[in-house]
Amino acid sequence: MFIDEYISGVAPIRGKILLVDDQVVNIKILHQLLQTDYDIYMARDGHQAIDMCKKVKPDIVLLDIEMPMLNGFDVCAHLKKDPDTEDVAVIFVSGHFDEDKEVKGFQLGAVDFIHKPINPVITKARIKNQMMAKSQTDLLRSIALLDGLTGLANRRKFDQVLPVTWLQCAREKQPLTIILLDIDFFKHFNDTYGHTEGDTCLRVVAQKIQDTVNRPYDLVARYGGEEFICVLPNTDLIGGTYVAQQIVDSIVSLKIAHINSPISKFVTVSAGVSTVVPMYDMPNKILVEAADKQLYLAKDRGRNRVLGCLVEENT
Ligand code: GH3
Ligand code: MG
Ligand code: MG
Ligand code: MG
Repeated sequence: MFIDEYISGVAPIRGKILLVDDQVVNIKILHQLLQTDYDIYMARDGHQAIDMCKKVKPDIVLLDIEMPMLNGFDVCAHLKKDPDTEDVAVIFVSGHFDEDKEVKGFQLGAVDFIHKPINPVITKARIKNQMMAKSQTDLLRSIALLDGLTGLANRRKFDQVLPVTWLQCAREKQPLTIILLDIDFFKHFNDTYGHTEGDTCLRVVAQKIQDTVNRPYDLVARYGGEEFICVLPNTDLIGGTYVAQQIVDSIVSLKIAHINSPISKFVTVSAGVSTVVPMYDMPNKILVEAADKQLYLAKDRGRNRVLGCLVEENT
C-alpha cells in the first residue's frame, strides 16, 4: 500500500472515549450525550481508569478531578509518564472553574477542561475538536513510521521495534529471528529497465514479502534501498529459514523479467537469517550483523538462496 492509498484508505473509525467519575450519575449524563457518536468505556476510580487506558487505548479520557484515592491529577500524571498511555487526550471534568486547577491540569498534559454541570452543546463541540486533533496526530505518527515508496514499515519503525521485541523474547526466553533480504543485481535491473520500473519492482517485491510473513507480531520493514528486514519473535532458526526460503521462492515465482541478471531470467532475492535467544546484556546489533554476514555468504554462493546461523551468547 502506498502512502496516498494509505491515507485515503483510513476509514473514519469511531473514536473511543473513557469516562472516569466516582459518581455514577455524572457518568450516565456523559454516556447519554456521547454514546451515539463514540464507543464509550467507563471507570469509577483512578486505578480502574489507568487499567482501562492500557487495555482499551481510548482516544480521549474525560477525567473527573475530585475522586477518592487517586484523584484526576494523579491519574493524568500517571498516564502521561507511561509510553503505553501517553498519547491519550485528557479532558478534565471539574466541579467549578478554578484557575489554579486549570493551570495545574494543563501543566500535567491535559488538552481541555469541561465544567459541571456540563453544557451539552459545548461539551460535544469540545470533544469533537479534540477527537479530530487526535486522529490527525495518530495519522501523522503512523505515516512517519512508513516507507513512502513501498508502504512497509520504515527503518525508524524497525529501530523502535527491535529493542522492544528483544526484551520481550529475553523475558520469555524465546528465540528471536531476523531475515535480511536483498534484491539480486538490482543495479542491473535499474540500468536495464529504468528507475521507475525499478521502483515498481521494489513495491511488488515488498508486497510479496509482506504477504509471505503473516504472524501478527512479525514485522516487515524496508531496511535500505533494495533491502528488507523481517523481525520474527518466538521463531527459531528452522522456522526462520523456512520463512526466508518461502520468500525467496515466492519472489522468483513473481516472474518479474530481469534479462540482464547473470543468474536467472527473473528478479531474485538473497536472504541472510540469524537467530538468538536474547540476553538482557547482549547488544541487539549482533543479530543484524550476523544476518548481514549470512546475506553476504548467500550472495557469494550464487544468490537466490538462504543462509542462516545461530548467534550464541559468547559470539
Ligand atoms: P547484489 O546482487 O550484490 O545485491 O547487487 P545489486 O546490484 O543489487 O547491489 P548494489 O548494492 O550494487 O546496488 C543496489 C542498487 O539498488 C543501487 C540502486 O540502483 C538500487 N536502488 C536502491 N534504492 C532504490 C530505489 O529506491 N529505487 C530504485 N529504482 N532503485 C534503487
Ligand atoms: Mg468526583
Ligand atoms: Mg543492497
Ligand atoms: Mg542487491
